[in-house]
Amino acid sequence: MLCPHNALARQKCILDNGKIRAVFNSGDTFTIEEIVMDGHKVAGSGSFAFWDLTLLGPMGETPVYRPKVARYQGAVKTYENGVQRYCFTWFLRLDYSRGNYPLRAVVSLPDDGDRLYFNLETELPDGWIVTNVKYPELTLCHPENAKVIIPEGWGLEAPLSAAGHKAVYPTSSMQFVMVHNADGALFFGTEDSSGSRKVYGVDGNVDMHLSLDVPASEAWTSDGRFTLPFAVNLGFDRAGWEHAVTHWYKPYSYTLPWGGEERKIKNRLSTLSPWLLQTEGWVRLKTVEDEFDALDKAADLLGEHLSAHWYWWHQIEYDTHYPEYLPARPGFAERIAQIHRKGVHVTPYINGRLWDPHSESYARDGGADASARKMDGTLYTEIYRTSCVVNSVTCPYTKTWHDKLCSLVESIQTEYGVDGVYIDQVGCTVPVPCWNPSHGHPRGGGSFWLEGYQRILRDIRREHLRPGGILTTEENGECYSDLFDMMLMVNSLNNDHLGPLKIVPVFPMVYSDRIITSAFTALPEVLEVGVPSTYRYAFAKALLYGAQPGWVRAFIITDPKFAAEAAYLRKLMDFRSTIHDIVLGGEFVREFTPLGANPKRDFVRFWEDTAVLGAEWRDRDGKPAYILVNTEAEAHKVLLPKDALHRGKVTVPPDGAIVVR
Ligand SMILES: [Zn+2]
Repeated sequence: MLCPHNALARQKCILDNGKIRAVFNSGDTFTIEEIVMDGHKVAGSGSFAFWDLTLLGPMGETPVYRPKVARYQGAVKTYENGVQRYCFTWFLRLDYSRGNYPLRAVVSLPDDGDRLYFNLETELPDGWIVTNVKYPELTLCHPENAKVIIPEGWGLEAPLSAAGHKAVYPTSSMQFVMVHNADGALFFGTEDSSGSRKVYGVDGNVDMHLSLDVPASEAWTSDGRFTLPFAVNLGFDRAGWEHAVTHWYKPYSYTLPWGGEERKIKNRLSTLSPWLLQTEGWVRLKTVEDEFDALDKAADLLGEHLSAHWYWWHQIEYDTHYPEYLPARPGFAERIAQIHRKGVHVTPYINGRLWDPHSESYARDGGADASARKMDGTLYTEIYRTSCVVNSVTCPYTKTWHDKLCSLVESIQTEYGVDGVYIDQVGCTVPVPCWNPSHGHPRGGGSFWLEGYQRILRDIRREHLRPGGILTTEENGECYSDLFDMMLMVNSLNNDHLGPLKIVPVFPMVYSDRIITSAFTALPEVLEVGVPSTYRYAFAKALLYGAQPGWVRAFIITDPKFAAEAAYLRKLMDFRSTIHDIVLGGEFVREFTPLGANPKRDFVRFWEDTAVLGAEWRDRDGKPAYILVNTEAEAHKVLLPKDALHRGKVTVPPDGAIVVR
């Protein structure tokens, strides 16, 4: 139990450790009067729900309880192991047998802590479960000229708006959102190792509202008690968002099951695929007949450290009939063998989540039984503009899907000689609550989604992946990072609902020492649409963030229109091969704008930035290293940040990159 159920006080409640002061009014109702963190007022009094619980009763009841339909009882303060804690209690009237069931919302403050922590539990009658929790819902002071940072893809920054922002974990790769301005950064996060789906909400409508919305697992209710199995935390960092990330989340990430010391790239150099370690850039191609010649040409232009993602290598129409990828188009195996002779490695695309309900295999192989089901039993259906057909989301906990993916990965490698498989949608799409009672996992949300993929991908790695073969997924949900060799970063800018966006390197600040990445964003696929500055910027930023750059269509980068950009990519790839002690096992510290004669440019499809771009790293030995990349065909003389040891001007060569150590 989170707190004793007696001596409930109806008075002003104060948590104070000298750094944080939180004042609650526990009169007839519960309110927050004030939260001050590091001398900065984060919250004044304002109306808010604080918690919101959806339940499922034994007769199919689905009440939504909030404080206004519960009975507030008061608060009790405890002090234990150096932690001050207030437990605020409401009664839920769920039946007449006992009358009232206490819900306890607990706010804690460690004596030496720099964040507030929020926990929640409630007692329930037999046969009841909680199906969804919103907690905490907070109304805070509206910061002036503030921006929201969401760790989606590399990390996204957008203006704080009334329309609001939602970060859906683990599509949003890490467990927090931030709001920052010149005063500092507000950090709102969770500490949970189960990979459970969570939605962090931020909106700036008059006041600022923060909320966490979680589909609950029925496993979170036992013996008549529901407990949210993790704490939510709120902190304010005057030193800014980069400091908040590196001081709060990065240390925490090493305690996560997928983020430990053993996951550091520098500790895995002898076990990682040798060709992946040597890959300095990627191209992608679609279809066998039309684009293979371009791949062959790209291999000549870009050298032997090139690798390729191959889409639509199968006979079925693109993004239809999934997962019926076999057989491949005629000539696929022969072309793989041919391109291997030039040193290029190939990973073909499959989807790790979708099953077309109108495919033959869905009827034949038990697709309906493997589908994830909503509470009402219907399918989760998704339509993509690439094909416009109906797809269903498959539950990764099922043996059917496990066996399907294991068999596909094995067959694709043995039949065509490829160098691994690119399994899309594991790292980039959101888990769905599954209510299919026959799948063997607790119904609802929770840890089953991650556990299902862990079982599938660990079995693939142990029994079906050929030596040296790799598994790649699209995007970077942190909880899947130990299941894949590389994470492909292409969707950061796909969320146009967020408004004007800028990519910021939140992810590399945390995981650059443990996760190999490739690409920067998706790039134009139509020759006429692309412009040089788009490609140059994407290649340069990928390199700065430690990724293997490229992921450009082979026919575009080999077209005479982009001959200079092909040469540019080749230069960056060659340069990257000289800094493996930085980008393969070092740590990304921060991005910086080099000073000096560094003109501003408008990078089409992106934003205004400087001609020379910079990133500070620490190499494998912890020594500082400053990478400078010139996006232009003329040299620029620039200065490193003021706190760098090197104080003089540095000449960054045309179309080139340098490192200052
Ligand atoms: Zn399921």
